[in-house]
Amino acid sequence: KKLEQFDSLEFKNVSFRYTEQLPYVLKEVSFCLNKGQQIALVGATGSGKSTILRLIAQIYSGYEGSILLNGVELSSIPTNQINHIFSLMRQDAFLFEESVRFNIALGKQDMTDKEIKAAAEYVFADQFIEQLPNGYDFKLDKNGSNLSSGQAQLISFARAVAQKGQVFMLDEATSSVDSMTENLIQKAVKRLFDGKTVIAIAHRLSTIRHSDEILVFDQGRIVERGTHEQL
Ligand code: ATP
Ligand code: MG
Repeated sequence: KKLEQFDSLEFKNVSFRYTEQLPYVLKEVSFCLNKGQQIALVGATGSGKSTILRLIAQIYSGYEGSILLNGVELSSIPTNQINHIFSLMRQDAFLFEESVRFNIALGKQDMTDKEIKAAAEYVFADQFIEQLPNGYDFKLDKNGSNLSSGQAQLISFARAVAQKGQVFMLDEATSSVDSMTENLIQKAVKRLFDGKTVIAIAHRLSTIRHSDEILVFDQGRIVERGTHEQL
């Protein structure tokens, strides 16, 4: 049966190691993300936060325990169905040596200029894109190195909006950005979250505040959970 609508994602005692020779980086992790909910993952570097999103996106397999998507074991679901439901905004933005337009439309190259611009506008990326030489046709260098890290993030946000995923997975970058871009990113994140199902690795307090539940990770385990007020 094909997955059409996201309903819930449940981690049940999930443990994971990248290879059998390496130590576990997730240890009996349990949580549930329901439709319309927003969860923030916080914790020290290396505590396993990005690994959670990589497992959901099926970038890695071989977890122990259970990850249920609408009650169905994730490992039995084809990756193209997963990609249809989840939009992953990675820490490094994951940009291609192609135009801005290509990077936003990604895989949906029949998308119109109007749709691409609307997605960029939604996350406040439109203004700086218009100012680039050739605007939306501006060609990115490898890994978007001819953009600032904040601009690269905004393009990855625009991509997520354009792809119309049902669940946004945000791995917020830690790199510092100038205060003007920081302001745009905060506004963009607020909009991205608005009325959506979100699982976000959050570094900004402004992002964390908007979440229904915060999961605190330490060395692969959830050591605390609750709302911003409770923690
Ligand atoms: P950060 O806040 O720095 O992004 P994180 O909480 O996202 O950290 P993860 O990237 O999930 O941490 O990494 C968890 C652990 O898994 C770390 O010890 C890391 O070194 C290890 N790890 C991550 N990716 C791999 C990989 N591809 N192969 C082997 N080990 C990895
Ligand atoms: Mg990470």
